[in-house]
Amino acid sequence: MRFPLALTAKMARHVIKHKLARTPKFAMVLQLEPLHTCNLTCTGCGRIREYSTNLKDMMSLEDCLASAAECDAPMVSICGGEPLIYPKIEELVNGILEQGRIVYICTNGMFMRKKMREYLAGIYSPALEPKLAELLAQKLITDKDCETIRKGKNDGRATIKPSKWMYWNVHIDGLEYTHDLIVEREGVFKECVEAVKMAKLIGYQVATNTTVYKETDMKEVEQMFEYFSSLEVDGHTISPGYEYDAAKKDMVKRLNKQPEDFFLTRKMTREKFAKIEEWGERFTIFGTTQYQEFLAGKREMTCTPWAIPTRNIRGWKAPCYLMTDGHYAGYHEMLEKVDWNKYGVVNGIARDPRCENCMVHCGYDPSGALGRHNQRGDNWKNIKYNFGPKPKPYREGSKVNAFNGVSIGKGHLAEAKAAINSPRAAMNGAQAAFSRKEEPASGGSCGTGDTSQRDDLLAKIKKDV
Ligand code: SF4
Ligand code: SF4
Repeated sequence: MRFPLALTAKMARHVIKHKLARTPKFAMVLQLEPLHTCNLTCTGCGRIREYSTNLKDMMSLEDCLASAAECDAPMVSICGGEPLIYPKIEELVNGILEQGRIVYICTNGMFMRKKMREYLAGIYSPALEPKLAELLAQKLITDKDCETIRKGKNDGRATIKPSKWMYWNVHIDGLEYTHDLIVEREGVFKECVEAVKMAKLIGYQVATNTTVYKETDMKEVEQMFEYFSSLEVDGHTISPGYEYDAAKKDMVKRLNKQPEDFFLTRKMTREKFAKIEEWGERFTIFGTTQYQEFLAGKREMTCTPWAIPTRNIRGWKAPCYLMTDGHYAGYHEMLEKVDWNKYGVVNGIARDPRCENCMVHCGYDPSGALGRHNQRGDNWKNIKYNFGPKPKPYREGSKVNAFNGVSIGKGHLAEAKAAINSPRAAMNGAQAAFSRKEEPASGGSCGTGDTSQRDDLLAKIKKDV
C-alpha cells in the first residue's frame, strides 16, 4: 500500500463519521505552532516575520494539548518556528500520540540528531551496541556521542520515540546549493541528510516537505525526490510557495529582491507542476489525486481552509495558515464568526485579491480529501492511489549529485554577519543590504521581526548539536 493502512483508515473513519453526522465544517489536520522562534531565517518564511520570535511567547503544553482535543483533528502537524526548540516538545509529541492522533514534526532538521541521541540514551542497553556501531560507521554519531549514549538518560524527561503514528517531516527545498541558499545558511542540507539517514537507521518514519518558488528548477526537484527515495524516506509533501505579506516585505527590505521575482502565479505553478502526477507514480507524494490534478492545471478547486486550522500563541488564526485577518479564542468560535465565503478562488475568480495566486497544499488538498469538487471517477482514482503499491526506493537516486556545493549569497546568514561586521563592507553599503533590523510586522501587532534573541539562542544551541 502506498500509505500505511492504519493511518489511512484513521483519516477515512474521521471523514465518514462527520459526513454521516452532516457536520458542516470540521478539522482534518491541526497546524500547531507552539512557538515561532527559529534557528534559521529562510527566505520566504512568513512566520518568523509576522510573529514574535521571542522565546517568552510560546503556548503552554496544556494549551497545545487542549487545542488538539478541541478541534479533534486526527492528525497534528507540529510546526512553528522550529518545534524542536520548544522546551516541552517531547511531552507535546507524546501527549498528542496519547490522544490517539497522528503526529508530524515539521522541522528544519538541525536538532533532529540531538533528539535521536537522547532517545538512544533513554533506551540504552548493551543490546544497542550493534546499532551504535552502524551509526558510527556511517559517521552519523561520534565516539563522544556514543559515550554519552552509553551513560543513559537520567533526567526523567520523555524522548521522541519511533512510532507508526509519528513522522519527522523535514524541510528540504532542493539539493545542497539551492537548499542552503533558501535557508540562508551553509551546511543545513548536509545536516538534514545525516538526520534523515540516522532516523531511517533507528526506525523512524521520515517525510520531506518542499516549497516550490519561481526560481525553483523542477528538474532539480525531481532529482531531489530521486535522491531522498534512495534514502528510503516514507513520503513527500510539495506545495507552491505563497506570497505572504510578511515575507514579501522582508524580501524587499532585507534582501532587496522583488517578490514577483520569487513567488509563483497560478499560471507558473501549473507549468512547474506539470509532472506532479508522474511523480506521484514514481514517489510517495502525500496528497489527493484531485490536488495533483489541480496543481497540474487539469481542474479548478476552491480551498477548504477550515479543514486545516492553525493554532498559535495568539489563538486560532483565520482564515488560513497563510493569511491573517484575525485570531479567535476557540476553533468553533472561529468556524462561526469567520465569513468563509469571502475567501478562495471560485471558477477562476478570486473572492479576495490575496487569494488570487494561492494553490497551497494546506488550503486545497483537504478539498480533494473531502470530495468538495468530486467528478466522476474521483473516488476510484483516490482508492487506486492510496491502496496501490508503494513506489519502490529509487536506488539510482544515490548517484544524484546532491552535494553540489555550499551556497553563499545575498541574504545568506554567514555572509550577512561577515558583511555587518566588516568595516570595508560598511563603507560599500553592505551593512544596509544584510542588516536584519526590526521592522514592522504586516499581519498584526505581535510580530517584531527582532532576531537578536534568536541569534543568541542559535549560538547557545549550536554548542549542543
Ligand atoms: S525553518 Fe525556515 S521556514 Fe521553518 S520556521 Fe524556520 S525560518 Fe521559517
Ligand atoms: S485561497 Fe484559501 S488557503 Fe489560499 S490564501 Fe486564500 S483563503 Fe488562504
